[in-house]
Amino acid sequence: MTGRNALIDAARGAMRHAYAPYSQFAVGAAVELIDGTVFLGSNMENASYGLSLCAEAVAIASASTAGKMADICTIAVVGGGGDPIVPCGRCRQLIAEVQAVAGRPVAVHCSASSGQDVRSFMLDALLPHAFGPAALAPAHEPRHTSDPSTGNL
Ligand SMILES: [Zn+2]
Repeated sequence: MTGRNALIDAARGAMRHAYAPYSQFAVGAAVELIDGTVFLGSNMENASYGLSLCAEAVAIASASTAGKMADICTIAVVGGGGDPIVPCGRCRQLIAEVQAVAGRPVAVHCSASSGQDVRSFMLDALLPHAFGPAALAPAHEPRHTSDPSTGNL
């Protein structure tokens, strides 16, 4: 994957698979790794509304499940019919965790469900003064592998 527009197009493709029967508000996301690999996500609603998942959360979880959260460098999110959509507060916090684990700034590209307008931000602009692993005691800092001897993550 190369370029902002290609990542936006990938997110737009994922948006077509959104499961949003209640809100009809489809969102797609694409996260790109430093090697160009892309993981996709779309929002997934639930009859118990509070269980609904945002597209960004699904895409980030997909990359994390592949063991690649630390390699995420860019995130694209697409949805809505007006101005470019931006990640909700919860997703900004999720992206802050990605940034902390990755150890590098994460770019976020935002667009509407159609149209060419793209707004790009660095995560620090979307969520200044973010709460993160550094705020926790060292024992709670994120680790990437599980330790079978202790059962700890
Ligand atoms: Zn969200």
